[in-house]
Amino acid sequence: MAFQRETEALAQVAGRLGWDQETVMPRGAAAQRGEEMGAMEAVLHARRTDPRVGEWLAALDDSALDEAGRAQVRLIRRGYTRASKVPGRLAAEIARVTSVAQGVWAEARAQNDVGRFLPTLAEVVRLKREEAAHLAEGRDLYDALLDDYEPGMTGAEVEAMFAALRPRLVALREAVLGSGRRPEPLRGHFDGTEQMRMAAELAGVFGYDWTTGRLDRSVHPFSSGSGTDCRITTRVAEDDPFNCFYSTIHEVGHASYEQGIDRAFLLTPVGQGVSMGVHESQSRIYENQLGRSRAFTGWLHARMRERFGDFGVDGPEAFYATVNRVVPGYIRTEADEVHYNLHILMRFDLERALIRGALDVADLETAWNARFERDFGVPVDMPAHGLLQDVHWSVGLFGYFPTYTLGNLYAGCLHAALRRDIPDLDAALAAGDLRPATGWLRERVQRHGGLRPPRETIARAIGGEPGPEPLLAYLEAKFGELYGL
Ligand code: ZN
Repeated sequence: MAFQRETEALAQVAGRLGWDQETVMPRGAAAQRGEEMGAMEAVLHARRTDPRVGEWLAALDDSALDEAGRAQVRLIRRGYTRASKVPGRLAAEIARVTSVAQGVWAEARAQNDVGRFLPTLAEVVRLKREEAAHLAEGRDLYDALLDDYEPGMTGAEVEAMFAALRPRLVALREAVLGSGRRPEPLRGHFDGTEQMRMAAELAGVFGYDWTTGRLDRSVHPFSSGSGTDCRITTRVAEDDPFNCFYSTIHEVGHASYEQGIDRAFLLTPVGQGVSMGVHESQSRIYENQLGRSRAFTGWLHARMRERFGDFGVDGPEAFYATVNRVVPGYIRTEADEVHYNLHILMRFDLERALIRGALDVADLETAWNARFERDFGVPVDMPAHGLLQDVHWSVGLFGYFPTYTLGNLYAGCLHAALRRDIPDLDAALAAGDLRPATGWLRERVQRHGGLRPPRETIARAIGGEPGPEPLLAYLEAKFGELYGL
């Protein structure tokens, strides 16, 4: 554990270099930073594959340990086995190629030029398939990569969950768009400095601990770190304050998870969020089920009036409809709650086919565009709005996309259980008091960190098996009412 603790500490340092790079690093430092991060990665890889770890694991008697001890060993064994299966040469090659590929992708997206990106993407896919083959040892290639982000989950399980979501999401989308109701968008100018003040207030309201956190601006909002150093970022668009506010609330959800983990697990494998899906369940329930609820938006409306004056939305009901406006669009990160998961379902099918060898990179754009038109009813107008919009594939994140919808699904389950346990939740939300909700999540989910596998973490929190029904029921009730269906 002493050896592992030092590895975890070094990993936190590496993560903080990444935070620095996205927030305050001087522009001219990029090349040197690349070397610094590469050096940290080399040290971390050597520690993760250190043969002594294998010897210690082999000598260990698991039955002599308590629950937390067994969880630590399970996670250490998992990390060691994974790191040892991938040859160092391949790991270094993936790191090098994806770092270059991210630049190529950014360039191709800026110029709307798919042809510029595809040769690089083909190289990334080839390397990730090779890595998956080492990890899978004859089993499914995609499952091997998915397991990195959602331990224990298989592509077949994801496929079944998504198949249950899809027909009702499509039906809800069509009903909403066919309803004839068109809530007004927000109009006006919202001062950036005042937005950041409001964002800080929202972070505090949602329970963000400022003694172990800070809020900065970045191009893409993110959260970073764990334990007693959990930082978040947001972005500011002066015509769209919701971007800033809901990005902040989302990242506070991620950071609260890390801040809330039992301090006894600090700088250990258990002392971190257990999976990307569970992580996203926290950010999504903060952002959507709580932050976009009628009760809370009533409070937000009043606070925004105080800060920004009259911004032309007529009362809290109209404001609630504006916050939850359903608008078809090309971009996943800007999608509303009705459309969001359809973006993910599509990416899951495409990336799984790529990794399993059923879809060639050369045919990806055609496949993307056909699927988008089928699911969203409009043709893709330009590649930057199509397959060039997300960074994930360029940096080798295959198996990551489904965890977004899994997070939404888990958030749906947690929200139903939360409402069951705290019947008068809306009274607190309407007063801008998130403590009953965030306290429940801290107790049920956050403080346990990686103590139990992801699905079990959620099952224990809700007192039953997680499934798609609560999310679907929530979406149909909320948007059915908003759009008079
Ligand atoms: Zn997130």
